Amino acid sequence: MVLMDESLLYKVALKIGGDEAVKIVGELKKRGKATEEELAKTTGIRLNEIRKILIRLHNFSLVTSENVQDPQSGWLIFYWRLQEDQLQSIIKAQKRRILEKLKARLEFEKTHDFFFCNDKHCGRYTFEEAVENFFRCPQCGGTLQHFDNSKIIEFLEKKVESLKEELEHE
Ligand SMILES: [Zn+2]
Repeated sequence: MVLMDESLLYKVALKIGGDEAVKIVGELKKRGKATEEELAKTTGIRLNEIRKILIRLHNFSLVTSENVQDPQSGWLIFYWRLQEDQLQSIIKAQKRRILEKLKARLEFEKTHDFFFCNDKHCGRYTFEEAVENFFRCPQCGGTLQHFDNSKIIEFLEKKVESLKEELEHE
């Protein structure tokens, strides 16, 4: 059994399914295992919402399901339970995904020239987009000029480095 920081569990649950996921995960932690109906009753969350969140948690392997035969009726009861030992690998996988996104973003910043109209609400345009618009901002009509993205590149490089280091030391 992996020792686990409880607040981390709720943080991950919150990211995956919001406040309601935190409630459901808390209930599963208390009970060990629970049916969807039991969860609906104790959390006050609607049954179809419970199901949706459980499926989302299941996609991240944070919960698992099992069928248990009811000794009295002989019917199968469908239970959900937490997989807390999956937490570390969920977090690691998430960090890897973020790292890949950051690297792709960094590559995009490095290989493109950007243009802007001096109004940050209008956004930035690539060289191709600027040419298509005859160097006029499609939003406000202002003149597009070269945008220096070296600060963004620097920021992304730092992020990529620190995330890489984090992943290596886990
Ligand atoms: Zn503009």
